[in-house]
Amino acid sequence: METIAKRTIRIGYYLFGFLVIFAVSLAVTVPYLISERKNYKLLTREIENTIIEEKKRNIKNIVLRTIVELDVLRDMIYDEYRTHVHDLCLVVVRICLMYTDMIGKNASSKEWSCLDGVLDKIGVGIVVYDAGRNELLWTNGKENAAEFAASIARGGDVSEAFPEVAKVDFDDGKVAYVFMSRAALDGIARDRAKKLIRSVRFDLNRYVWVNEIVNYNGGDGYAVRVVHPNLPETEGELLSTLTQDINGNFPYKAELEGVKASGELYFSYYFKKLGSDEITKKLTYAKLYKPFDWVVATGIHYDDIDSIISKRRQAFEQVYDSQVMVFLAMITAVFVICGVMLYVFEKQLNSMVNRFVAKIKSNEAELRCEKEKLSEAYKELEGVAFVDYLTGLFNRRAMCDIIKGRLEQCRLGGASFCLILADIDKFKAINDAHGHDAGDIVLKSVAALLKDALRKDDVLSRWGGEEFLLMANASDLAGGVALAEKLRRIVASSPIRVGESLIDLTMTFGVVESACDKTLDMLVKEADQFLYAGKERSRNCVVSSGC
Ligand code: GH3
Ligand code: MG
Ligand code: MG
Repeated sequence: METIAKRTIRIGYYLFGFLVIFAVSLAVTVPYLISERKNYKLLTREIENTIIEEKKRNIKNIVLRTIVELDVLRDMIYDEYRTHVHDLCLVVVRICLMYTDMIGKNASSKEWSCLDGVLDKIGVGIVVYDAGRNELLWTNGKENAAEFAASIARGGDVSEAFPEVAKVDFDDGKVAYVFMSRAALDGIARDRAKKLIRSVRFDLNRYVWVNEIVNYNGGDGYAVRVVHPNLPETEGELLSTLTQDINGNFPYKAELEGVKASGELYFSYYFKKLGSDEITKKLTYAKLYKPFDWVVATGIHYDDIDSIISKRRQAFEQVYDSQVMVFLAMITAVFVICGVMLYVFEKQLNSMVNRFVAKIKSNEAELRCEKEKLSEAYKELEGVAFVDYLTGLFNRRAMCDIIKGRLEQCRLGGASFCLILADIDKFKAINDAHGHDAGDIVLKSVAALLKDALRKDDVLSRWGGEEFLLMANASDLAGGVALAEKLRRIVASSPIRVGESLIDLTMTFGVVESACDKTLDMLVKEADQFLYAGKERSRNCVVSSGC
């Protein structure tokens, strides 16, 4: 029973313990995982946005860098041709001086025509001008030489149309000019830029393309495709703002309106990928390079951005997964540690309980022992309370209880009984003659005599002093009287030995029969009256209502 109870408690303990640990683990884990998941979603969204922004910045930087390169290239061409023009100017002067010697200092423009064919191969403009006569003497006809000469004659500023000019003054007032027009210089710069742009590639198969706007109002032929590494065969083709992509967008229209409005724009449309026939959505940044009327642009396909995003997301997912795994491992470790602690605590608790139970058991044994001692003491007390210490017979109190009980039974229909009150005759004389101790011995001997002569279910008591009260069960008055007579004769014929002496003695008996309507006091009083009558009569006799 105790083992079953212990097992049940242990099972309950572990169930409850693990349930609590599990609940706590759950209470920690679930909010953590939810917040981690939330963070994960937030960060992946942020990564997505960051990558898109980064790619937008990146394509813009490519275009801006290309435009910077265009500026640098243009400056370099100007510088290069500046030197070139100055060097040629010196050569031209020498040749002119040589020819002046031939045709004379005052030669007319007609005579100067002898220079035709001499400097034709040189790719710069040459003008020999007579400032004194304000007369154009000779020109090689290149680089808008006529316009240059007219400007010079007007005395106007030529630097806008002819940025690179070298001049040498002759002694006789003539001036030789060597120059390059802006259109020619920019043409050279454009050719070099086209080669450069066409040859450059960026990651994800990206490239830069250029459209040159010829009509800012749009429409068919509004621009010429200048550089397009993806469709090189289409370079030189005219473009139209009415062209649509597969999704119905007007990319050229959007581009033209964007550069007209702010010089630059981001826009999206569908276009063929480089090295493939696949047409996908593309994000493009375009900026106008006004000196050439070029729209310089580059772009990135959205599916390439998506593949970058998915790679980053995968990497992040791995980090997230490993974080979650570490957390779960920690929670499991805590769970195991708590389980071990639960086990250790249970063992400690068990030994404490065992010690406590052992203590209780030993206390219980002690208590049982004490209880036994107490019940023994109680029995002893009972003996003292209900037994006469001298004779060992019931005392007066015990006899009263017994008789009252029998009277109750009698009233409920039980059998009748007789009360016999017996008194030793002249006992005082015995005391006086033999001493009080001898009297005690006599009392004990009389008690034993009477007891031995009685039936088992008769009850004998010491009623007081040298008086004995006897209850004869299931006996009528005649039976009671006969019993008393028998006892009288036994006592009278049984002298008692006290030391060397034999003491003769007699007893007088009063007998009453019980009646249901009488109380104990009434019956005892009646028996006492008969006893008294016997003392009065002769002693050593039996007196009852019948005699
Ligand atoms: P009677 O025949 O009239 O009964 O005379 P009796 O002497 O027996 O009666 P009485 O009442 O005069 O004396 C009783 C005596 O019994 C007196 C008392 O000292 C003695 N007695 C009472 N109890 C004890 C006892 O326990 N031991 C002894 N030794 N004597 C007792
Ligand atoms: Mg007496
Ligand atoms: Mg007496």
